[in-house]
Amino acid sequence: MLTYEDARSLVIEHVKPLGKRNCPLNESQGLALSEDILAPHGLPLFDNSAVDGYAVQALDLEDASPENPVHLKKLGYISAGDSVEVKIDSGQCLKIATGAPIPPGADTVVMKEDIVLNGSHVNFSQLISKKENVRFQGEDIPEGRKIIMAGTVIGPAQLAILATFGYTQVPVHYLPKISIVSTGSELVDIGVMPEAGQIRESNRFMLAGMVKQESCELVKISMVPDIPELLKKSFEESLQADVAIFSGGMSVGDRDFAKPLLKEMGVEEIFWKIKFKPGKPLFFGRRGKTLVFGLPGNPASSYVLFEEFVRPALRKLMGRKILEETMVKATLDEPITKIENRMHFMRGQLSEKNGELRVRPLKFQGSHSLGSLVESNALIRVEACSAELPKGSKVLVRPLQNEIACDL
Ligand code: AMP
Ligand code: MG
Repeated sequence: MLTYEDARSLVIEHVKPLGKRNCPLNESQGLALSEDILAPHGLPLFDNSAVDGYAVQALDLEDASPENPVHLKKLGYISAGDSVEVKIDSGQCLKIATGAPIPPGADTVVMKEDIVLNGSHVNFSQLISKKENVRFQGEDIPEGRKIIMAGTVIGPAQLAILATFGYTQVPVHYLPKISIVSTGSELVDIGVMPEAGQIRESNRFMLAGMVKQESCELVKISMVPDIPELLKKSFEESLQADVAIFSGGMSVGDRDFAKPLLKEMGVEEIFWKIKFKPGKPLFFGRRGKTLVFGLPGNPASSYVLFEEFVRPALRKLMGRKILEETMVKATLDEPITKIENRMHFMRGQLSEKNGELRVRPLKFQGSHSLGSLVESNALIRVEACSAELPKGSKVLVRPLQNEIACDL
């Protein structure tokens, strides 16, 4: 059986980023850039004032002191958005707003709070270093700098940069189209009162929510009983997507039809079953360009397997370079005494106390546990067959995008 690491490598190896297109800036959030962004010009665009104040020549204020203030003649006012029409000579100053261009001749701006108005003149009672309060052309981003790398997901900061450089259209990768099918004859829809032996279906909603976190496009979400003809029809439609996610029926039960059916429908098995907990019977395969994930129906297994295998695959298809939330080191608040003979990603609660990250594994780690999903905000990586981990041990933890609104 494959290890966690080998299985992840196989998934990543089989995923190629989707093609490229241009998309309007205001629709680009959540997509990955398909090209490096080079600054077409320097930023700031021109030398400008960092404060509301007075543009001066610093040399004029060399001898200024509270006892001997220097008086400079005030020439007028320049506001943000104005073009410069005056030149400053020695003995002169110009009132200036934050963001207004520095007039020729001036090299420094004195803050408004540090002057006293004196009729047609302004009194300065402090010397000032040359260049103070000036934002120079190109000091933030020099022309030609590679400011955002291809493969970066576009968020608010990237939107600001792209806007300032005039990108009305942005080079991005296509988003993968995803389908989700939950299988199981025991499943009923959310508005239905379950009868004996039935449960309300929940994986569809959970998995769709995780797909939406990655901004991917959901093209089909369905629920099908364990009846081969119905499964086949639904699977065929789902296999038109870039990624088809199937939940349930992946193990070896008498009515676990999903895996043999996928094979019959031409899905090539890349692997099935991994040395991992929760979620041993993970299936990964492909048919043509469609990647296929078969997740066990147990909700916690599905959730953790999505996090560790499906999310990185979606990100790679999207063209993203960062395929997962970076793992952090945290201190165990409680010992881990039950060590498995396969890699175990335990659900836990991560918190910060006095600048230190601490994590506590949940007591209940059942792979069917829905409760554990809302009670955990992190996965603790516990190596197969490792020694017991006493309280205080350092462990690797994957933070989850899951809020627990109370003190942990
Ligand atoms: P399976 O992988 O089909 O053998 O299902 C394993 C367990 O997960 C069973 O207890 C199922 O009832 C449960 N289960 C399967 N699919 C779902 C689902 N979509 N939503 C919630 N529970 C499920
Ligand atoms: Mg089932």
